[in-house]
Amino acid sequence: MATPQTVKTTDRNLSAERIRNIGIIAHIDAGKTTTTERILYFTGKSYKIGEVHEGEAIMDWMEQERERGITIVSAATTTFWTPVLNSAMPVQKYRINIIDTPGHVDFTAEVERSLRVLDGGITVLDADKGVQSQSETVWRQADKYSVPRLCFVNKMDKVGANFLNVVEDIKQKFGVKPAVMVLPIGAENEFHGLIQLLDGNALWWKDQEPETPYEIIDIPEELKAQAEELRTQLVEQICETDEQLLEKYLNGEEIPVNELKAALRRAVIDYELVPIYGGSSLRNMGIQPLLDAIVDYLPSPTDVKEISGTHPSTDEPVVRQLTASEPLAALAFKIQTDPHVGRITYCRIYSGKISSGSYAYNATRDIKERVGRLLLMHANQREEIDEAVAGEIVAVVGLKDTKTGDTICDENHPILLEGISFAEPVISLAIEPRTKSDQEKMAFALNKLSEEDPTFRIKINHETNQTVIAGMGELHLEILVDRLKREFKVDADVGAPQVAYRETISKSVEAEGKFIRQSGGRGQYGHCWLRLEPKDRGTGFEFVNAITGGTIPRDFIPAIEKGVKEAMGNGVLAGYPMVDMKVTVYDGSYHEVDSSEIAFKIAASIALQDGSKRAGLQLLEPIMNVEVTTPKEFMGDIIGDLSGRRGVVQGTTESGAAVIVKALVPLAEMSKYATIIRSMTQGRASYYMEPAHYEVVPSNITAEIVEASGK
Ligand code: GDP
Repeated sequence: MATPQTVKTTDRNLSAERIRNIGIIAHIDAGKTTTTERILYFTGKSYKIGEVHEGEAIMDWMEQERERGITIVSAATTTFWTPVLNSAMPVQKYRINIIDTPGHVDFTAEVERSLRVLDGGITVLDADKGVQSQSETVWRQADKYSVPRLCFVNKMDKVGANFLNVVEDIKQKFGVKPAVMVLPIGAENEFHGLIQLLDGNALWWKDQEPETPYEIIDIPEELKAQAEELRTQLVEQICETDEQLLEKYLNGEEIPVNELKAALRRAVIDYELVPIYGGSSLRNMGIQPLLDAIVDYLPSPTDVKEISGTHPSTDEPVVRQLTASEPLAALAFKIQTDPHVGRITYCRIYSGKISSGSYAYNATRDIKERVGRLLLMHANQREEIDEAVAGEIVAVVGLKDTKTGDTICDENHPILLEGISFAEPVISLAIEPRTKSDQEKMAFALNKLSEEDPTFRIKINHETNQTVIAGMGELHLEILVDRLKREFKVDADVGAPQVAYRETISKSVEAEGKFIRQSGGRGQYGHCWLRLEPKDRGTGFEFVNAITGGTIPRDFIPAIEKGVKEAMGNGVLAGYPMVDMKVTVYDGSYHEVDSSEIAFKIAASIALQDGSKRAGLQLLEPIMNVEVTTPKEFMGDIIGDLSGRRGVVQGTTESGAAVIVKALVPLAEMSKYATIIRSMTQGRASYYMEPAHYEVVPSNITAEIVEASGK
């Protein structure tokens, strides 16, 4: 890749009303990359159109992403658009920041992270396949952050494309009110245009060349009745969200299109309606109306008025208006190592401004950081700026210790924004460098990689001196190992993926732990009673101090908690971390002279281990939601095979010529499934999986695992 050119901009005229921070969300292969690329092309920032299958897509800028044809790293790309079709917004230049959301669910953390910082989303759907499982997952994640959205029904040119079927699917599966904005003219190979329902005209693309502009034509005669019906429905939907318009509508008044569009904008931002667009990204059809819709209906940073956080030292709530005149508050949402400029921290600025060459306060870590250069990343160049303000997304060069999820703010007006929560890894593998020099390179590389991706964890087993890496799925780890070898030139042997089991207890018990040494000199004295109780699956660990009357001095309680945590981390049954339990310290004793933190820590650890052994220890394993899409003829084989993997089939649904099989299957049984399914169906079925929850491992398998662990 050639070094991107950097241009320096000092005088920028921008107001936050003219910014759209958006993410494009899709099931893998629905066309997210192609759509993003066409957006960059039509907004004039991309010099040439690259076909995804040729691996030239701009957003997929890492070598191996290109090979795999998936986008895994979110970055933010800035581009500009002036509406071209009867927009209800002032016709001027808008800045669109596209925050790249990954298409693969192995990278859930990346999705969550991007959802935190964008204001609106576009969900790209396949016109033939409709709402696919990953879109549903991501849709629910986006709901969590109340992200206003619009849908783009892509691949209208594909065999089997059916726009209104997808609309129905959106209604059913997303449970939202779709506002149908366009009606395609033709489908499959005959797809050529879009009726714009509100404007009452149509866009017609003669061919698929990107240079060929659309023509605005009258609504074709044969579609007039259907378009009229859909328009009436749309107008009604919009009016229902606005009392004044509803009154006019009920009085039979004609409502000006601009008023309808303005009301629709409010309804989308309030998440009452979801506008549906359509087209074919591959054939360059439908991108301009989509861009106009981003400007017209998705929120600007000023549509949200305030953000709340807490004061880092007092924990008091702090509310910040989202304007440039307030003190700085920004969230670091992505760290990337750029081959040309080094460590880049992508920040979303919520209030105030940040200037290059200044200092900023990291409230999460209580450190001061020097802000070096500020960059806006365009598709094919970087723009260096002096200052970035509320509403913007900016790449900061120079922050050394800031991590994903940290808050950067004004030291005199500190605020801690809600961090970003990441799921725990479910799979791990051992990795062994070949030589001493590889070992050094590996330590450096792993550090860098985990900085970029917080769901990727590194653990060093000090007993065996082995490095273990953990992540969200086989593919996730595969890609990381690949980067290690390729980007960082580390030569290493990699073990087989291991499932991240957990341990827990099933009964309540009480246990005593004593650590007493009194043989000359100063002795050791730690003594405590712990109550261990099981908790619901997925609720984690809770520690309670129920000591009264100073049976154990307050100063030693943290040491007891530490001892409990350490013992839980090492597991009791087979060496896997213990989860979902409540531990209460309720009694014990101490010695005036001999008691120490270390003695209480050891006593607590003894009590925990001893108690756990009597508390009905259980091994837990990650269960995956698995979804296989297969031609009907292989359905029986797929189901039979999944059942053989301890899978429980949840149901099957027909989708065109294909069948979708949904099942819950233990991760331990899914190793190398990609290869297995390929050979079972001659490569015609595809699958996807995501962690669902943890479940107790059947006892015969537990016995095998315990034996293998050597405990
Ligand atoms: P992503 O995985 O969601 O990023 O999807 P891509 O953009 O990589 O597209 C997946 C495949 O679908 C590629 O082979 C594209 O060429 C193809 N594709 C994308 N958009 C369209 C479209 O509008 N029509 C058709 N027929 N194929 C498309």
